[in-house]
Amino acid sequence: MTTMTTPVLPSVGSLRAQARDALTTIGWRGDLGGPGAPGLQASTPITGDVLFSVAESTVDDTDAAIGQAAQAFTTWRTTPAPVRGALVARLGELLVEHKADLATLVTLEAGKITSEALGEVQEMIDVCQFAVGLSRQLYGRTIASERPGHRLMENWHPLGVVGVITAFNFPVAVWAWNTAVALVCGDTVVWKPSELTPLTALACQALIERAATDVGAPREVSRLVQGGRDVGERLVDDPRVALLSATGSVRMGQQVGPRVAQRFGKVLLELGGNNAAIVTPSADLDLAVRAIVFSAAGTAGQRCTTLRRLIVHSSIADEVVRRVADAYRQLPVGDPAADGTLVGPLIHEASYREMVRSLEQARADGGEVLGGERHDIGEAYYVSPAVVRMPAQTAIVHTETFAPILYVMTYDDLDEAIAMNNAVPQGLSSSIFTLDMREAERFLAADGSDCGIANVNIGTSGAEIGGAFGGEKQTGGGRESGSDSWKAYMRRATNTVNYSTDLPLAQGVRFS
Ligand code: NAD
Repeated sequence: MTTMTTPVLPSVGSLRAQARDALTTIGWRGDLGGPGAPGLQASTPITGDVLFSVAESTVDDTDAAIGQAAQAFTTWRTTPAPVRGALVARLGELLVEHKADLATLVTLEAGKITSEALGEVQEMIDVCQFAVGLSRQLYGRTIASERPGHRLMENWHPLGVVGVITAFNFPVAVWAWNTAVALVCGDTVVWKPSELTPLTALACQALIERAATDVGAPREVSRLVQGGRDVGERLVDDPRVALLSATGSVRMGQQVGPRVAQRFGKVLLELGGNNAAIVTPSADLDLAVRAIVFSAAGTAGQRCTTLRRLIVHSSIADEVVRRVADAYRQLPVGDPAADGTLVGPLIHEASYREMVRSLEQARADGGEVLGGERHDIGEAYYVSPAVVRMPAQTAIVHTETFAPILYVMTYDDLDEAIAMNNAVPQGLSSSIFTLDMREAERFLAADGSDCGIANVNIGTSGAEIGGAFGGEKQTGGGRESGSDSWKAYMRRATNTVNYSTDLPLAQGVRFS
């Protein structure tokens, strides 16, 4: 990779001060160690420096956190759901009040540009509002009984402790998707955030504890444990954790899923994506190119829904690639907190090395790479997004590289394009750009896109919380956030009540 220059970055001292100010304003009271002190090293991808060290949870801490959440569940499950909603409503109010503070921490730890960091906190506010409404809508069904004088119905009950494991790239929103919904459902939560984003986690925990104090709810309904894989594994293996909701790579899901299944726990997996967009000859190319650039280059390619594959009709491929590459050349790369920046840093060196390896493999497979240069300052990893014209969907295209690489392939027939869309092991998000209603409907039909999210004339990323979020195949099959995703956080009881004086048996069975 060639190296480019980029604007001067802020000093590590000023970044430390920003983090401390944000945590203090949010109301977090605790001790942070200096860099190198024992514990998790809270780094910033903006400069690559360690800001602070954060205490890591021991085996005993994790055991105690699960125990406290399990104890809190014994009263929380019978607290009326609308009263539980009041806690989530208060959390939403505090998030509105501290939106900018929390977004500052998201930018510092995950490297998101300010607008996207604010958007992530807005997503938390949105899901709190959704969950508050949900707290009065946890409906079961009444079903016609075949027996006279009988009533058949379904009741939804809380599950227990929900273990939440989250990834670095949505350090606050994914916690909120799970926690807001789990709490109104009557569950309690133990959260293990990514070891790469411990400061944002401290801030979220301070906010939920404040909300609990304000409304008189037990603070133990939401607990935080900090650490890496080993701390996560304690949640995975603990039988007191009724549901494990884990967000991260396919590799992590492959480790976690069977272990929870082994003890007959429930899992909700939100894993990697390898998202494609089809661009047809009828597409509004001005709109399509804008959507493609945001989906592929936004968040420096570090969203699970990032657009990674473009499947373009051969008649317009040259024009689409030229327009995307032109747009890429104009994207300001640099300090994510600076005005005008659209592409912030990669999370760490390993991520950058993976991007380099993938581009080398793509070249070896006959790909033509445009962009992808490194902007090198100190220890930080800033890159220009890359567009790669590929002669075919080779193995590297089937792999999720968590960096801004957009592979472009061509097609001649829509069935072929849909087959290419579906040819990867992951099944998270997908889009078609077309003004032809038949093509759009074909893409959304049962033999169209096989993904959990299929869009028309918008990109693959940037979902709203009202819909259920998640994907198929190696993406794990889980659904979080809106629609009826709440059902994953509850257990269903089927109840039959006999209010007659007889005892008729189902299916006409006689036993007398
Ligand atoms: P990661 O898999 O490295 O880590 C995710 C979380 O899992 C971390 O908290 C980590 O400590 C924990 N973990 C890892 N191995 C574990 C194990 N064996 N047992 C218990 N916990 C374990 O992922 P990452 O690099 O933080 O995030 C990027 C990945 O997450 C990408 O693949 C991305 O597509 C995916 N992701 C998916 C979604 C979604 O909703 N589908 C959302 C965000 C990110």
